[in-house]
Amino acid sequence: MAVESKLGVRIERAGPTHLRPFTRYFRGFESVPAVRELFGPRVSRVLGALKVEFFSARFGYMGTSDIDGHLLISTHHLADSDFRTVYLDIVHELRHVKQFRDGRPLFYPKLSYVDAPSEIEAYRFTVKEGRRIGMTDAELLDYLKVEWISAAELRRLARRCGVAPGRARRKAHRRRLRR
Ligand SMILES: [Zn+2]
Repeated sequence: MAVESKLGVRIERAGPTHLRPFTRYFRGFESVPAVRELFGPRVSRVLGALKVEFFSARFGYMGTSDIDGHLLISTHHLADSDFRTVYLDIVHELRHVKQFRDGRPLFYPKLSYVDAPSEIEAYRFTVKEGRRIGMTDAELLDYLKVEWISAAELRRLARRCGVAPGRARRKAHRRRLRR
């Protein structure tokens, strides 16, 4: 007898996900040069078909599904983080969307976050865009600093992205979610 029937409960294991159109919430990205370069002449079609799933947990920021390539976005991050962080995170995730569309892996379970080829590529792309919008190395270093990487990993990631090591603010830039 199944455990659930012994306990007198039933659990529907197929949870629904609500997918929204990316362009309903994020407008004008098809005109960002880096994004145009990424998707080429298909840019409007790709973004037009892209879907977003919003979630309200107080951990995590953004991600890309390696099942169907849709974006996952924290509503707290979207509402509370500074504009450039959200903007660069979108640019970062679009790089992962391209990787997914190219049939390349997004996750490398055996590697540290900062060593995953998918992340190095996405962060390089993001740093380049950060420079284009006028961010300094110190600001970019702050952007790279997230709670789940160590100081040594931050230095490694910065080096790989060509960002001067310097001193990041003591706390992670995205600390605002941890209230
Ligand atoms: Zn990433």
